[in-house]
Amino acid sequence: MTTETIPNRFTQKSPEKGQFDQSFIVAAVEDFVSWGQSYSLWPFPFATACCGIEYMALSGADFDIARFGAERPSFSPRQADMILVLGTITYKMAPVLRNIYDQLADPRYVVSVGACASSGGMFHTYAVLQGIDRIMPVDVYVPGCPPRPEAIIEAIMQLQKKVRAQTIEERREEIREKLRIIEEKNRPIRVE
Ligand code: SF4
Repeated sequence: MTTETIPNRFTQKSPEKGQFDQSFIVAAVEDFVSWGQSYSLWPFPFATACCGIEYMALSGADFDIARFGAERPSFSPRQADMILVLGTITYKMAPVLRNIYDQLADPRYVVSVGACASSGGMFHTYAVLQGIDRIMPVDVYVPGCPPRPEAIIEAIMQLQKKVRAQTIEERREEIREKLRIIEEKNRPIRVE
């Protein structure tokens, strides 16, 4: 591996110029691990509607998410790093989705794909959850109905940047804060 293949902040040239100049990498273990994690984000595709078809296109040869190390879908949350929510989520389905989120391996990431997952989309009805961020923390929102596969690729790239930029402690703090806000919003109103 040469220094050209990894981001600059992980590299530091060896003090002595010479034949080993391009052969050493000096990095904090945490940076190195998060760099590795960013290129092995295994998805849990939670596909409930038409956005799922875009995910299928994304996994095919034309778009090829293997280029980002995210080609291996996991249908067991314990072997997944990020959940892609693709489609309409009803209130009946919401507890199941939250349960799967809780079972994902830590650190876990959430990508809300399409208008339905992000805001309920055109289904402004009593039965549809108006955005999955009402029940779980979201890292990246993908607009569109449906979003093009390129838009989902862009979301994965944004997530990769985030994974590389955050320390474990910063990640935990972000999740704690988002879950606190969700709990606050979902607290029932008591009329006394
Ligand atoms: S956002 Fe559009 S394409 Fe995606 S699940 Fe909803 S209706 Fe279907």
